[in-house]
Amino acid sequence: MAVMVQKYGGTSVGSAERIEKVADRVAKTYANGHQVAVVVSAMGHTTDELVELANAISSDPDRREMDVLLSTGEQVTIALLSMALIKRGLKAASFTGWQAGIQTEAVHGAARISEIHTESLLDWMKRGGIPVIAGFQGIADGAITTLGRGGSDTTAVAVAAAIQADLCEIYTDVEGVYTADPRFIKGARRLDRISYEEMLELANLGSQVLHPRAVETAKKHGVALVVRSTFSQNEGTVITEMKTMESERVVTGVAFEKEVARIALLGIPLETPQLSHIFSALAKEQVNVDVIVQSVVREGEVDVSFTVMEGDVDRAIEVCEGMMEETKHKGVFHEKGLAKISIVGAGMISNPGVAAKMFTALESSGAHVKMVSTSEIKVSCVIDNDFLQAGLEKVHEAFELDQ
Ligand code: ADP
Ligand code: ASP
Ligand code: MG
Repeated sequence: MAVMVQKYGGTSVGSAERIEKVADRVAKTYANGHQVAVVVSAMGHTTDELVELANAISSDPDRREMDVLLSTGEQVTIALLSMALIKRGLKAASFTGWQAGIQTEAVHGAARISEIHTESLLDWMKRGGIPVIAGFQGIADGAITTLGRGGSDTTAVAVAAAIQADLCEIYTDVEGVYTADPRFIKGARRLDRISYEEMLELANLGSQVLHPRAVETAKKHGVALVVRSTFSQNEGTVITEMKTMESERVVTGVAFEKEVARIALLGIPLETPQLSHIFSALAKEQVNVDVIVQSVVREGEVDVSFTVMEGDVDRAIEVCEGMMEETKHKGVFHEKGLAKISIVGAGMISNPGVAAKMFTALESSGAHVKMVSTSEIKVSCVIDNDFLQAGLEKVHEAFELDQ
């Protein structure tokens, strides 16, 4: 008998019919003698619809109330799935975030889980009960918080760590983790295994199949993690330690992000305070900066450019223009409509020529590589969004990921 956590995403619980299917799956796991805790997302596009509703009321909704609103989506699903399980003769009960003891830091919109008081969950499970837990939400100082979009994965992994589950299964609408998003790349292949490190990079670089903090939490607490389909019996993808990998692929997967923008501060005299000043000011205004490039010194001046998400461009420009007095730059340039393609693979540490191969592939798609950033296990390139699809296909092909 194993202790399992099963998490079902939005599409998997998108209708009453699908919730019934999920209930069958949970019932089967229970009938096989396992103890099971279930974590669910809001049904279908509920969370998007709630965001739209809030935006119809206010262009800058109060963050506390936004969390109260968004947390209702998951609350619908826990009740419906519990009803479906009870109908099958099982002992099930719904748990909102606070009822499940999920404490978070006191930040609205992107709170991190600080601890889980497991007494009520464990007590219920010990008595043969199945807890059906609302993902994506917690409580801090008596207020409802949410974990950030896609955060139900993180709830599932954190619960699995807290109750020392033997396995955490993430059920979704694809068969596992693929070499690229199968919705964009027809030839994408499902991976049998991937390391925590590679999965974390892919998630951080835009693969929404897993929430980055879920992977981080799984790695930290050694949670055995599997991504698989709600709609089939196939085995899915195991996320595992690097050392148990059979062979090291040079590149394991490709990820991308859209709605990227570049901002450049042009002609900053060398003698003025620069990087520290610029990026402290941006951080203070909560602007998330990604790729940063500084030019070589030319006639006593440098240019600094960096990427932000398109939604942050106006705020970033305002900050940059506001510091003109101190940095004495000659102008601020910005460009929207960009995308970032990244390749990830543990094997690239010991293989030269990986970046060159990526540039060749992107150039053959017609894209001009505007910015590059690398780490030991990834290379990211910023290109025009118009070349995203062709670029992804060429890069996927160049590293023979479809074979
Ligand atoms: P859920 O609602 O179950 O959490 P998500 O939509 O958050 O599902 O995540 C699943 C989606 O992630 C898939 O439908 C797929 O389009 C996308 N995706 C992006 N990159 C990958 C990848 N490398 N492997 C598998 N799916 C991916
Ligand atoms: N319902 C939330 C979202 O759509 C959380 C999740 O599905 O993981 O982002
Ligand atoms: Mg998700």
